[in-house]
Amino acid sequence: MTDRISLHDSVGVDLLRRELGIDPHIVHRVRTVFFKKFRGREAAITELPCGVRNVFAERIQFYPLTLDARLDSEQDGATKLVFATTSGKRIESVLLRAGTGRTALCISSQVGCAANCDFCATGKMGFHSNLTAAEMLDQVVQANEQIAGENRSVRNIVFMGMGEPFHNESELYDALDTLVDGRGFNHPANRILISTVGIPDAMLRCARRYPTVNQALSLHSVRDDIRESIIPLARKYSIDELRATILHLNALQPSTVMIEYLMLASVNDSLRDAAELAEFLTGLRVHVNLIPYNAIEGAPHLVGSSRNVRDAFAAALKAAGLTTTIRYSMGADIEAACGQLVQKMERGRLARAT
Ligand code: SF4
Repeated sequence: MTDRISLHDSVGVDLLRRELGIDPHIVHRVRTVFFKKFRGREAAITELPCGVRNVFAERIQFYPLTLDARLDSEQDGATKLVFATTSGKRIESVLLRAGTGRTALCISSQVGCAANCDFCATGKMGFHSNLTAAEMLDQVVQANEQIAGENRSVRNIVFMGMGEPFHNESELYDALDTLVDGRGFNHPANRILISTVGIPDAMLRCARRYPTVNQALSLHSVRDDIRESIIPLARKYSIDELRATILHLNALQPSTVMIEYLMLASVNDSLRDAAELAEFLTGLRVHVNLIPYNAIEGAPHLVGSSRNVRDAFAAALKAAGLTTTIRYSMGADIEAACGQLVQKMERGRLARAT
């Protein structure tokens, strides 16, 4: 039904509320049950007076996405959720259950991606469409509903799934507004992270608007030629421009900027690369996250660095005084690389799991 009002659309919901003569406090309770307690559609509807439940349920869209498949890792605490959008395209979210009891959710902001990074399965799909704010938020709602029975809830939300979030800036900001709003999800801003391939203007706009929302920059090299060879968008923004942007972010934000560095054998993983990275980051408030590479179809020329090389690279950065971690990649058995699972489903090579 195309004319239904999204529960995320507060103006539209308020018009319907007036039309049906519902007390605003009751609608507030419906939203609280659905967006803050994640108790699902039926529980939310039962907050309404009996006489308006059916019409409210017919006119309001609670879930803009349809859960198409769920894959639970047999190795670790990762769960991949594949959703179908109303236009029939698929996107992914990944739940990451840490041993500490904390749960993170990685969400998508676009169907496909125009940035076309060489190492990324989503980039190989090309760009299809932007997600709406409601579709971004629905990933949070449905992921929370999936883990409610485990007595868990999503603590950290990372925009690191399919898409470049800053290529969908206005919907991203609508989603962030609702996430941090006390009348929305009331999610702490400092537990949200936006990961970007590096779009300076947008990074600064975001930091001014949401100073406590964290940002991560997919850097992967401090040499323009190498960066441009794996990230086409790097031709637009030089490494010097990115350094100036990080410096500016440090002035605008209390938190450190996460530097994502994918470890690619013979591309960016030599000790010389480590030394250049350390020099580039000197004087900046950053945290370096080294990421093991997950091989993808369409990029046979890229190979992940060996564990020894990764460890030596990390040791060199630490010796230079940089806070450095190596990311433990969860969900290797459920197509850990972002977009990989969707590609297979689109080609009909993976059966639906739900
Ligand atoms: S790494 Fe991010 S920005 Fe690059 S193609 Fe993949 S989704 Fe897009």
